Amino acid sequence: MIRLFSLLPYFLGIITAAQPVKNNFIPGKTTGTLPSLEYGLGYDRLGAAKMTFLDTNVVIKVVDSTINNYKVQLSKDHFAYLSKSNFKKDTTIKIQPYYLTASLFASGDDKDDYVTIALEERLPYRSIQQINPSRIVVDIFGTASNTSWITQRSSAKEIKSVYYEQIEDDVYRVIIELNHDQHWGYSIYYENKKLVVKVKRQPADLGLENLKIAIDPGHGGSNTGAGGVTSNIAEKNYTLLIAKQLQKELEEEKATVFMTREKGTTLSMPERIDMIKAQDPNFLISIHLNSSAKDSVNGVSTYYRYIGFKPLTQFILNRMLELNLNEFGNVGGFNFALSGPTDYPNCLVEVAFLSNKEDEKKILDPEFHKAVAKKIVAGIKDWLKFCKKGF
Ligand SMILES: [Zn+2]
Repeated sequence: MIRLFSLLPYFLGIITAAQPVKNNFIPGKTTGTLPSLEYGLGYDRLGAAKMTFLDTNVVIKVVDSTINNYKVQLSKDHFAYLSKSNFKKDTTIKIQPYYLTASLFASGDDKDDYVTIALEERLPYRSIQQINPSRIVVDIFGTASNTSWITQRSSAKEIKSVYYEQIEDDVYRVIIELNHDQHWGYSIYYENKKLVVKVKRQPADLGLENLKIAIDPGHGGSNTGAGGVTSNIAEKNYTLLIAKQLQKELEEEKATVFMTREKGTTLSMPERIDMIKAQDPNFLISIHLNSSAKDSVNGVSTYYRYIGFKPLTQFILNRMLELNLNEFGNVGGFNFALSGPTDYPNCLVEVAFLSNKEDEKKILDPEFHKAVAKKIVAGIKDWLKFCKKGF
């Protein structure tokens, strides 16, 4: 289950939203842990829909305010919302009507590929993944093309080609075509005023013994998660038991495994994301147990946020269905915090429902934990075969 947020302050925020900022806008920069832009003030139990994570010290133009968020102007026609805790005012910044781009450069080192985009200022951006063909699309706001060089070095292994399109007068789009069908992740950040898109390559050897896998057992410590409908067991303890079985199965296949927690540690979502990013895994599996207000709802489901990461989640679900669980489904566009990073493929597995008696009975059985772990590994292997031959 994913933690519920208190909705009340948010609705109050919307009611009192219309407080125009004087002098048209306030200049400033992003700050703090994992700043992110949200599309609107919509809200569900996972929070507003995220447009993107941003680097820090990105120039931001605040044009309006709610209780918790600033409305920021990205370009003439684009707006987004930024948490107030991720904004620092800086009136020394003289924001230009638009900025200019310079050259694009694609290259690689012994591990990853990079596209660098020279800019005059650290401007907001967003990205999406496309499939068939696989591409990373990055929009940079408040900027117009002055690019006349797009250099590609042969050291770039995953990047097939890079080009741009000025999609609006002040929105510059960079399109990065990939050599493999599978997206292996990318990170966007600034080096001074150069925007860098670090592109992960498909590993040359897709054997599990060559891969590093992060596992996040959901909840933990003071965050108990859902409760069992008849047993009242805590989700946090059973996500850990299943995750440990998964760790064991993967290590038997000689994979390198990183666990975000191995006991009842309390970890926030940003802490988990930081830990996982620092490990630079090939992919992430999150383990949770579902819960519904309706006790008849049951079954297994897997989740992804970005379309490029869907195949892993579909293959794992297909194998999990062999456990005689109902199908709750393969869910995309999911706004779960650990599905948000673009840096590595990731799959959230909601194994079964603690709120359903039949599912709960399975969850209580240690043999079931082993069976789940084996099916997840089988799904991972199916996916890796698929990556190897191409889609
Ligand atoms: Zn959960």
